[in-house]
Amino acid sequence: MLKTIDCGAIRAEHVEQQVTLAGWVHKRRDMGGIIFIDLRDRSGKVQVVVDASKTAEAFATAEQIRSEYVLQVSGTVARRMAGQENPNLPTGDIEILATAINILNTAKTPPLQIDKEANEDESLRLKYRYLDLRRERPQRNLILRHKAIKFIRDFLDERGFLEIETPILFKSTPEGARDYLVPSRVHPGKFYALPQSPQQLKQLLMVGGIERYFQIARCFRDEDQRADRQPEFTQLDMEMSFMERDDILNLIEELMVGMAKKVSLVPLTSEKFARLSYHEAMERFGSDRPDVRYGMELIDISEIAGQTAFQLFADNVRAGKPVKAICAKGCGGYSRKEMGDLEEFAKGHGAKGLAWLAIHPETQEIRGPIAKFFTVEQLLALTERMGAEPGDLILISTDVKWTVYKVLGELRQELARRLGLTKNTGLTFCWVVDFPLFEETTTEEGHYAPSHHMFTSPKRAHIPLLDSDPHAVLSEQYDLVCNGFEVAGGSIRIHERPLQRKIMDLIGFSWEEAEEQFGHMLEAFEYGAPPHGGIAPGIDRLMALMAGEPNIREVMAFPKNQNAMDLMADAPSHVVQRQLDELHIALAGRAIG
Ligand code: ASP
Repeated sequence: MLKTIDCGAIRAEHVEQQVTLAGWVHKRRDMGGIIFIDLRDRSGKVQVVVDASKTAEAFATAEQIRSEYVLQVSGTVARRMAGQENPNLPTGDIEILATAINILNTAKTPPLQIDKEANEDESLRLKYRYLDLRRERPQRNLILRHKAIKFIRDFLDERGFLEIETPILFKSTPEGARDYLVPSRVHPGKFYALPQSPQQLKQLLMVGGIERYFQIARCFRDEDQRADRQPEFTQLDMEMSFMERDDILNLIEELMVGMAKKVSLVPLTSEKFARLSYHEAMERFGSDRPDVRYGMELIDISEIAGQTAFQLFADNVRAGKPVKAICAKGCGGYSRKEMGDLEEFAKGHGAKGLAWLAIHPETQEIRGPIAKFFTVEQLLALTERMGAEPGDLILISTDVKWTVYKVLGELRQELARRLGLTKNTGLTFCWVVDFPLFEETTTEEGHYAPSHHMFTSPKRAHIPLLDSDPHAVLSEQYDLVCNGFEVAGGSIRIHERPLQRKIMDLIGFSWEEAEEQFGHMLEAFEYGAPPHGGIAPGIDRLMALMAGEPNIREVMAFPKNQNAMDLMADAPSHVVQRQLDELHIALAGRAIG
């Protein structure tokens, strides 16, 4: 070993001991006859003092060193002089009086300042990720992640789960995204698909009698990189036989609470997770990943609005379209410009316009372009229904219900952000259950799209509806939501061949396609497949929430940028012609460059 103790571990109890340290030069201050070096390793920093009058040789070396040089330092631990202590540093009571310094490696001036978080462009941080990783924040996040995974492994091991690796080179396992394909050299013209999740494999493990499986699984999805997505990401993938929905929800709650208590830097607000039906989530929050940290819920005002002289409201209510509203506390004084911004925002989410009423904080007068269409009684009834007080703003949307959900759901979140309602709030989890089995819209050919994935079971009692009214069928899907982010999704699965075939029919798989792509699963279901279900919490998102980070790149060691590129290694990149030839691949003209 090049060191006898970690820099950050030295305390007053070590005073007078001889130590040897190894680490990076965090900072160096030359005070004439004395040079101070802050030496850093993963455990922290310690101050090293090099005194020319005591160690001429070490002093000569110290004069040459620069930031980020790698040193081995031997010396004696000493108490700092009174008044020289640094209470902000765990090692702030002591310093190392150097007797020898050995330069293990030099360093160019780094393009990132390691000792300070400057607001550099993220692409610079990603290009020099190995330098960025020397900083406190990424190290703290990777330590948190390590502890979380360790907690998960211990927790599940204690409950009889087996950790099993499944193949990365496999066949398409769809989760609704595009596959990453890997060409086969030995089977010209054929491709493996990287798993979008181990969904099929974990279900086949259940058929294989494993009963309780988990894996810290890498998943690959070729999606357009909008927002905070990564082409490869990590899930805690789980599957269980002979467990019912509530058994799984309870187990995951216990796991999340335990993990949050043990590792999270952001506290949990409640150990009990609310359970909302999909219908309730949409009606109250306009979203199937509701942020339940604050109110501002969607309220149906169709009854009042339909009776006003405002034609649009009356027409829509007659046509069965809802009129809903949210009440933004204290926003009644928004300027014309602010209201214009909100309207643009609403239009960006599909609204044709945005109706609003603002209550003056003192005079209590109600202003807004549609106020004149309301009688005094109607205004009173509305403010009462909305729980609106002087100074509040009521935002109203009417359209088909999906548009109303979207517009008010997004406005609600936007206003919460503006009002600071989501700042430093802690972690609030809730479950969303009883999803419809299929999405509302069908394809042009009249096929249904699964709202989760095609292996999700319909509720048993709803199976007959598959023939008469597939849209009315509810499923055994459940999602775990935290602070408005979906952090896990899962379901009780189909385990019988005829039902799986039926769902595939509705989704639009021909008999040949189903056999070709999923014949192995359909066949497996014929050999005594047990009832089973599972779930897959997203590790990256959970870690970002628990670390209080704004995006998942901050909790990944080597994330790609938002264009799915690794800026450090410059991937993806061109390959040589020989490699393409071996893989029997010819590039189309426009791809050569
Ligand atoms: N495979 C699903 C997903 O990746 C999770 C599950 O159903 O267990 O979302």
